[in-house]
Amino acid sequence: MAGSLADQLLHWYDGHARTLPWRQPPGSGQRSDPYGVWLAEVMLQQTTVATAAPYWQRFLSRWPTVQSLAAADEADVLREWAGLGYYARARNLLMAARLVAEAGRFPDSEPGWRALPGIGPYTAAAIAAIALGKPTVALDGNVERVSARLFAVDAPLPAARETLRERLRPHVPARRPGDFAQALMDLGATVCTPRAPRCPACPVRAACAAGSAGIAEAYPVKPARRARPVRHGVAWWIEHQSCVALVRRPAKGLLGGMPTLPGTDWQAEPGCHHPFEADWVREVATIVHGFTHFELRLSIDRADVPARFSHIGDQPLDWTPLDRLAEAGLPTLYARAVEQVIDATLEPVR
Ligand code: SF4
Repeated sequence: MAGSLADQLLHWYDGHARTLPWRQPPGSGQRSDPYGVWLAEVMLQQTTVATAAPYWQRFLSRWPTVQSLAAADEADVLREWAGLGYYARARNLLMAARLVAEAGRFPDSEPGWRALPGIGPYTAAAIAAIALGKPTVALDGNVERVSARLFAVDAPLPAARETLRERLRPHVPARRPGDFAQALMDLGATVCTPRAPRCPACPVRAACAAGSAGIAEAYPVKPARRARPVRHGVAWWIEHQSCVALVRRPAKGLLGGMPTLPGTDWQAEPGCHHPFEADWVREVATIVHGFTHFELRLSIDRADVPARFSHIGDQPLDWTPLDRLAEAGLPTLYARAVEQVIDATLEPVR
């Protein structure tokens, strides 16, 4: 039984594997270079294969070994990373490369990889399977979906993750575990897709509980939707002679390090608070914005002030001309706020 699912999948993989620059040809028996697999998996954490591939090639031609990456300047690495987003990944990659270079070798186990900065359970398992040939279960989004359907697991994700891991574990073959992991990823990406999975063309349909029952799209089971809590905030549009005061948010936390309008903290109850006395015009615009864990209702209060001042509290102000706000790099929430305020207040307040 343990071999049958693996055999069907590996047979399919031999003829249908996606060609990816960091991969060995299926069935070649060659293990991929840990550095290349690691780099690919980190890039793929938030990025599609098509976007990541040219970055991966540029990185490897500039820093062909982990030692060369370890010796790189962080600024150069971040520059090469520009466009991939989530820059903490690049910083962690560099930190981990320095630890590996210092140790003089790559970790030789899944827990060893897991201990490096920026490497979560999935990435460690994928590297262990693909580069080290360890029989691990590497659960990315594609593999979670395929497994939830294969075993018709009724619990929603992420609570079902451990169940999926346990159901899949006995099927991981001792021979070609890396190809098995990649075959599951490819099956999820090309056949067992989120919508309209191609069950009739699937190599494991006979072994698939949901596919053979014709109810593939009922899995993974969706968690019951919970209403997101609401938070309220007031942003201050402070204007002087066609310039608006911006601040920079603290480096850590939501919208970390980004320029925004100054304003109150975001709280459970609506409230009104202004940083100084002025003829404030209340609620010239209101934005409702969904964050992952809450919904923000941000109202924008406006005051025109007679002079520029340098700070609100200990926050330095950056006075930005109205016609340069679009280039200020505001996050979407505040870009929408700017748009609405400009639409709503074509005339100055005084
Ligand atoms: Fe996915 Fe259908 Fe294949 Fe099952 S039979 S693994 S649901 S594509």
